[in-house]
Amino acid sequence: MSVRRVRFETELASDESIPGALVRAVTAHVLYRTQPVLQAAGINITRPGHVQILERAELGHLAHVIRYAPDRLNAIRGQRVMTREEGITHQRVHFGNVHMLRSHMDLERRRISPLSLQLSNHHRLPWLNSLLPYCPVSFERLVHECPACEKPLGWRMTWGVGICEHCEQAIPPSPEPLLPKHMREDYCLFARLSSAVPDEWSAARKALPSALHEVGSATLIRMALRIGFLMQNPMIANVRMHAAPELPVDVLTNVVTDGARMLRSWPTGFVE
Ligand SMILES: [Zn+2]
Repeated sequence: MSVRRVRFETELASDESIPGALVRAVTAHVLYRTQPVLQAAGINITRPGHVQILERAELGHLAHVIRYAPDRLNAIRGQRVMTREEGITHQRVHFGNVHMLRSHMDLERRRISPLSLQLSNHHRLPWLNSLLPYCPVSFERLVHECPACEKPLGWRMTWGVGICEHCEQAIPPSPEPLLPKHMREDYCLFARLSSAVPDEWSAARKALPSALHEVGSATLIRMALRIGFLMQNPMIANVRMHAAPELPVDVLTNVVTDGARMLRSWPTGFVE
C-alpha cells in the first residue's frame, strides 16, 4: 500500500526532539496542523508531543512519512516502561541508559529557548525535561506561553518551532534573567545526567567521582534530587519524587544545581 509522504527530506540535528522534528517537517510543507501527517503515518494520538515515546514500529511509519532516517529517530526514542518498586507502580521512559520518570517529562507544552533558536532553529531534547527550567545551552529561562496573546505553546498546530501558532508572532527571548553564572556548571552536569541526547549521560557519569561510576541513571537523578531537597532552607521534606517539576522555578533550580554539586564532591562534600 502506498502512503502519502512529505516531499522533502530533512536532517535531524544531534539534540533535536521528535515532536520538534515533526513540526519542522510540517512547517516546511506549509501544512499548519500536525494531525494529517500523523494520520498519514497511521498514528492515532491526540497529543502530538507524545511522538517522543512512540512504539518503534509506529515511529518507523512516522519516519517514512516525514522522510527522516528511521535509525536516527529511533536512537532518541523514549521507550515506555512500567516498574514496580516498594508496592508503587512507576511509569518510566528509557532513553538508552538514561531512565527518567515519565512525570519528569513535559510532552504537552512546547517549551523553547528563543535565544538558542537564533543559533539553530530546532527544538532541543533537554526542553522536554521538566526538571530543567532553563536551556542548558543558552541558560535562558524556557518559554511556554506567547507574551503577545498569552496562549500556551503546543504541538497541534505550527508556523515553526519559535512562532506562536495562535497569533503567528515570533516568540521573543524570555524577559527573565539568565541562569546566574555561578550555577551553570552544576546545572549543566544535572542536565547531562538526565539527558536523552545519546552519549551525553555516559560522558557526564565518567566525570563523577569513581564511587559513582557504576550507579545507574535513575539512582543518580534520585540522589541529586533528594540531596538537593535536603539542602534547601527550609529543607524540603514532603515532596514526592514525581512532583519535583511542580516546585517553584527558583527552588527547583537550586535543588538540581545543589544536588549535582554534591554528586561532584561525593562523598566528602558532606563533611565540609
Ligand atoms: Zn501568540
